[in-house]
Amino acid sequence: MKRREFMRAAGAIGGAVVAGTLADGQAMPLGAQPPPTRPNIIFIMSDDHAAHAIGAYGSRVNRTPQIDRLAQQGMLFRNVFATNAICTPSRASILTGQYSHINGVPVFNRFDSSRQTCVKLLQAGGYHTGIVGKWHLGSDPQGFDHWEIVPGQGAYRDPLFYTATGEKRYVGRYATDLITDMAIDFIRARPAERPFFLMMHHKAPHRAWEPDQEHREQFADRWIPEPVTLWDTYATRASAIHENEQRVFADLTRNDLKLTPPPGLAGAALTSWLGKKPDEVTITRDGMPVTLTGEALARWKYQRYMQDYLATIQSVDDNVGRLLDFLDGAGLAENTMVVYTSDQGFFLGDHGMFDKRFMYEESIRMPFLVRWPAAVAAASQCDAIGLNVDFAETFLDVAGLPIPKDMQGRSLLPLLQGKRPADWRRSMYYRYYHDPGDHNTRAHYGVRTETHKLIHYWKQDEWELFDLVNDPYELHNLYGEPGHAAITASLKAELQRLKRELRDEDQFANEQPPQGVGGSISQLRGK
Ligand code: CA
Repeated sequence: MKRREFMRAAGAIGGAVVAGTLADGQAMPLGAQPPPTRPNIIFIMSDDHAAHAIGAYGSRVNRTPQIDRLAQQGMLFRNVFATNAICTPSRASILTGQYSHINGVPVFNRFDSSRQTCVKLLQAGGYHTGIVGKWHLGSDPQGFDHWEIVPGQGAYRDPLFYTATGEKRYVGRYATDLITDMAIDFIRARPAERPFFLMMHHKAPHRAWEPDQEHREQFADRWIPEPVTLWDTYATRASAIHENEQRVFADLTRNDLKLTPPPGLAGAALTSWLGKKPDEVTITRDGMPVTLTGEALARWKYQRYMQDYLATIQSVDDNVGRLLDFLDGAGLAENTMVVYTSDQGFFLGDHGMFDKRFMYEESIRMPFLVRWPAAVAAASQCDAIGLNVDFAETFLDVAGLPIPKDMQGRSLLPLLQGKRPADWRRSMYYRYYHDPGDHNTRAHYGVRTETHKLIHYWKQDEWELFDLVNDPYELHNLYGEPGHAAITASLKAELQRLKRELRDEDQFANEQPPQGVGGSISQLRGK
């Protein structure tokens, strides 16, 4: 049967992806293979994708119909949090099931790949393992049968990839599309007798938010609603937020805003020009030049930032759909657990900011959606507090493998099955170590319960207390205000309990944590 005939016979599935699958003769037609006794696991993680830029989470700024399919066909978690909301540390916590102070990656330092990870245990337990896309841990991956990763942050266009044996630059390709191709190729080439575990890590929508042409045009003239806290004045708040340098209005560079440099500029002069933070921008409106300053410029910067950020997400969404279509068409959907998450959240102009790091809700909340039809009810939701240190345990649990005692999280499997254990956690511990690091964001730690949050900037000994029920946007710092002594004391006690339980011995409290490769990681391979 020719390719097109088969597609017609099989129904309207998947387009080019399924066609390509059939062409190489490795596809399994619907129903041709019984499901494995243990599920396949596909962990899709984007970089800096805030939950409130996903339709299923109630986004006001975009639509994500493909990611939403996971919510419609599976479970949406409302309260999954990063324990240290920054790229490299969150990735280390996901692999190890350990907090930053235990796994050795509190900041942008190199992850010791010889450590125990869930991937190594899955591989030893019979899983075929792979990772494609962004690794961002400064070392070569271990425990993977197959890896194809970008160096450091990677590039959106013409991306370079490293493998165990070499490197290749994909000229003319866009990273999000390419990573999806690599994921599908990995699944196609898997050994038929083993379940697989695939980490599919997008670079998008990380700064500097470079969309492909199609999505750039789609968002070019789109007006994005502003968040309610865009003009937050930080009244009543700790000095750290006043000092932050991740402000939409003040800290986006010409490069972030995609301003066109003057002709003839090159090399260091061009880099310097692009790195400047403009307080005046001239645009063309109705064919006439208009110079923007002050509030008008601020609003324009927000639009430029969000148009590009959301355009890169639209490409992720399209590609999630392409992968799900492939799984459906290959008969793999039923017993494949598909997770969609991001390494942390992101400020979408919330509190006037565009990055993460702070312990505020938009930064620490991770989207977490799971489709696994064989075990998880469709259109289900979970409000329990989950953490990035729970992911490793969850993967091992669903694979039927033992969870090592030195992992610090807890399997989410009971929650996925709709059964919340009576002793499930009601609070979480957070700690951010860079001080001040990029964006001049001060180190802090804190505790979040189901109703309150207490943050301690320990070097300044400043505190913030929020009532998340009555002040969900965290605008009113109640610390030290009359009437809050009892809740403050109880949160401080809980913070100390968590520190003891998690063995955070404050080894970084009075010294600078190890400064590794910084935000411009470009090394791999033996460095
Ligand atoms: Ca990130």
